[in-house]
Amino acid sequence: MLEAVTKGAADIEYRDVQKPEIADNELLLEVMRIGICGSDITILHGQHKYMTFPVVQGHEASARVAQVGKNVQGFAVGDRVTVEPLVFCGKCRPCRDGNYNVCESLKVLGVHQDGMGAQFFAVEAAKVLKLAPETSYDRGALVEPTAVATASIRRAGDLNGKNVVVLGAGPIGNLVAQVARHSGAASVMITDIQESRLKRARECGIDHTVNMRDGTLLDAVLETFGPDKADVILDCAGVKSTIEQAIEAARAGTRIVMVANVKDPITLMIPALQRREIDFIGVFVYRREDFQRAVDLIDSGKITSEQLITNHFALDRFHDALEYIDNNQSEVMKVLLDVNEE
Ligand SMILES: [Zn+2]
Ligand SMILES: [Zn+2]
Repeated sequence: MLEAVTKGAADIEYRDVQKPEIADNELLLEVMRIGICGSDITILHGQHKYMTFPVVQGHEASARVAQVGKNVQGFAVGDRVTVEPLVFCGKCRPCRDGNYNVCESLKVLGVHQDGMGAQFFAVEAAKVLKLAPETSYDRGALVEPTAVATASIRRAGDLNGKNVVVLGAGPIGNLVAQVARHSGAASVMITDIQESRLKRARECGIDHTVNMRDGTLLDAVLETFGPDKADVILDCAGVKSTIEQAIEAARAGTRIVMVANVKDPITLMIPALQRREIDFIGVFVYRREDFQRAVDLIDSGKITSEQLITNHFALDRFHDALEYIDNNQSEVMKVLLDVNEE
């Protein structure tokens, strides 16, 4: 079978290897689609801080069950599935509290250990979730990024009747805004500096889109929501300017959720956070409940995906796909690798 191994920065080798054997608690998956995400690009550039080469990338996958381990129940050959790609210890305090997404020794398949960029993949059945038979493999590959969104909305708290702002209209921001709409938010506003991304957000049913080239976030929030401003601001851009603008635009009691993976330390306006009792909270990947909610939103058709999936490449063109994303940042949303033919 074909496998794409990332051996170093900008160095992907496509090699023919043996199909994996499965253990009794595992499933053999025929991988159908892999979604490429921002972290894959940082790996390509050798800028990912917490991984070692070589690694098989691929943590956003849809697949078909090809073989079922002896001790596995509830799965059959041919089932459409996706994989929750977290590896955790189960022993540390966060794990014991059920917060395994922030396990003290968390690893992500496809980042810290081999992921799903291969024609077949052996994985513990406990990490596998079934998709509806009518869910396309393209949509199935969106479950993982949608789970980032459902986790973010869980951290944002009850959104019923709330005014919600999402900063950044890339794939994650778009999905966060869509999930907010389906979580009872009264009104959702999304911002970006790329008009094409705002257009896609409108096509996905987001109420208000604002180009941040035109003014400050505070002005946009006042114009959209009036003096009550926003109840929740989710930062899916994660640069110094968006975080500062979020704090400036917040009112007393606004909750700011840090969704984007911020790489560098940033100095914050702590007095502004304190004086207005702003909740500034983080979210990191997802737990099973978030993953299951993402499956349900994808299966039920509530998440609009046509505007999100912009390109397809074959697995043996993984490197070309990464370069394409790098060179077409303003137009590209989600790029999928077609690993096996349906
Ligand atoms: Zn990802
Ligand atoms: Zn742990």
